[in-house]
Amino acid sequence: MENRRILIADDNQALHEDFKKILTPKGKINDAEMQSAANALFGEDEKSSAKIKFDFKFELDFALQGEEAFNKAIEAHKNGNPYALIFMDVRMPPGWDGIVTIGKIWEKLPMTEIVVCTAYSDYSLDDVLEKIGVSERLLFLKKPFDSVEVQQLALSLTTKWNLEQANKKHAEELEQMVQERTRDLDIERARGVHGAKLMALGEMAGGVAHEINNPLAIIHTNATLLKDLIGENFDPTMGLKITKKIISTTERIAKIIKGLRSFSRTGDNDPFEPISIAQIIEETLGICREKFKIHDIKIHIENPFSLTQIECRHVQIIQVLLNLLNNAYDAIEQLPERWIKIEVKDNADNIDISVTDSGGGLPASVREKIYQPFFTTKGIGKGTGLGLSISKGLIESHKGKLWIDDKCKNTRFVINLPKQQIKIAKKVG
Ligand code: ADP
Repeated sequence: MENRRILIADDNQALHEDFKKILTPKGKINDAEMQSAANALFGEDEKSSAKIKFDFKFELDFALQGEEAFNKAIEAHKNGNPYALIFMDVRMPPGWDGIVTIGKIWEKLPMTEIVVCTAYSDYSLDDVLEKIGVSERLLFLKKPFDSVEVQQLALSLTTKWNLEQANKKHAEELEQMVQERTRDLDIERARGVHGAKLMALGEMAGGVAHEINNPLAIIHTNATLLKDLIGENFDPTMGLKITKKIISTTERIAKIIKGLRSFSRTGDNDPFEPISIAQIIEETLGICREKFKIHDIKIHIENPFSLTQIECRHVQIIQVLLNLLNNAYDAIEQLPERWIKIEVKDNADNIDISVTDSGGGLPASVREKIYQPFFTTKGIGKGTGLGLSISKGLIESHKGKLWIDDKCKNTRFVINLPKQQIKIAKKVG
């Protein structure tokens, strides 16, 4: 329903009657007269009048003073019955004049259309504009009025108000839709990340069982040997050898658990600390070595004793490396030739860690999408499509880069990381 409510603010009661006659002739609306005003304004083109459907029943309200007009406008707005347009006299002694009243109304109801009704002796146009500023919601009407002009203004400005309200409503609905959709996506993403973690955890639980089973068997065998030895003639040299083996094997389990702990945290709040590349690789392999061994996938490490240190959140670099290794595993698991190579290259102030697998590279169609969240070519329940997008974010948070080396005939991912995170420029002298 179109809002055609108009407030007339004028201290001259006789003028209220004039407005009534012009806008609601004989107290009732005169459709023919209004239609002719509409035609004069918008033309008689049937199409255009079909587009904007007019309901010309103006509803008039009156105020004799500026403050009364302000109160009425606020009250009407509160009751859900706002005025689309106000005809505002300038001089309304003894209270607020029209210009003050307009300022007050626009402070609370900035969408209201206003026509300032002035006589020549009132403020100059410049005075008015200086006081309330230029606005597309303000028009000037010189007294004495031409009744058709008043009708046309009433019609066009209330129509403008209605169209703007509809636009505003539409924009608000769109905004709400965007917010809802964003929230849904956030939830979906959180679910995805959670799912990815669960899946990684499940996969790792299997891997860790393998990893720990083997050293446990070693400890068990050696402890049994030791027990038998104690029962017979105890040979201290043999006893020492066996206990050393038990100790080194428990240390291996401790390493696996350390790597596992690393993986179970996000590391978001960890400080950037120096750590050697060798240790990062060792901790990563600690939690997946067995999985590769069981499936007969050889892991070659070039420059394994790289003691080069980098400043990083090492938990996050381990997560990235593990993700690259797991992706390599999935890609080559079924290939006749199965190997993975980890290489470290020292470039003075930064390092490259590359992970190459025996696969034949990625087709362009896959390559351009792999960093998109949720892009996966793996089967349902296997891939989440989050690994590389998260990995890229983690590496970039270290001011590093993650990319695919297309020059390599196999599949090679390269992580480049600066050795230091912040370079503090020291002033000399
Ligand atoms: P996910 O592993 O859950 O699929 P990722 O973001 O880690 O998610 O990987 C996205 C996709 O990139 C994989 O589904 C796969 O198609 C491709 N991809 C990643 N690493 C390799 C690789 N080493 N060899 C072949 N394809 C790979």
